[in-house]
Amino acid sequence: MKVLEEKILVEGRALNENVLKVDSFINHKVDPKLMHEIGKEFAEHFKDQGITKIVTIESSGIAPALMTAYEMNVPMVILKKQPSKVLNDDLYQTLVSSFTKGTSYELTLSSHQISEADHVLIIDDFLANGEAATGALRLLRKAHATTAGVGALIEKSFQPGREKLEAQGVHVYSLARISRLGKGVIEFVQE
Ligand code: 5GP
Repeated sequence: MKVLEEKILVEGRALNENVLKVDSFINHKVDPKLMHEIGKEFAEHFKDQGITKIVTIESSGIAPALMTAYEMNVPMVILKKQPSKVLNDDLYQTLVSSFTKGTSYELTLSSHQISEADHVLIIDDFLANGEAATGALRLLRKAHATTAGVGALIEKSFQPGREKLEAQGVHVYSLARISRLGKGVIEFVQE
């Protein structure tokens, strides 16, 4: 998606070979017009697939996921990262290792929000090692829902997320695919 690639080149900041900061339009300050364009792009790509819900992981996926849900006229469900304080039979939980923080967190979904009747599109800001998306897929399987695919705003193609998801038979659609990062260097996959 040209407009996203241009934004990344102008405002993105490669901290090192592995991490891209996008705080000025996705992760901290959010560009609503860009998020709306992104929502329209995902909605167009995944149209006619019978998607009933958009699922995202808090917090950076929420803005693009909401715009996608709005465009597809379906609800959005946020997978929570905080551990539940009460023992609750109505929760599905799974452990996910965090790429940026180097720690693990418990991803939680209430059984009341997704059922076996749902066909879900997962939206997240980054696809790196694919741990977050794989955790989301595990929760959706616990809920007996089916998955149409994973939509990522930014895929770091030099990390194994896409292969990991495709090996599970999951369709991956990324709007910007980065082939190389370095101090002051951001390069995209030539398609
Ligand atoms: P994965 O689970 O695919 O390894 O990593 C995806 C998650 O880690 C995303 O939800 C995103 O929040 C975070 N992440 C991964 N790589 C980056 C990065 O380069 N920059 C930022 N800002 N977040 C990232």
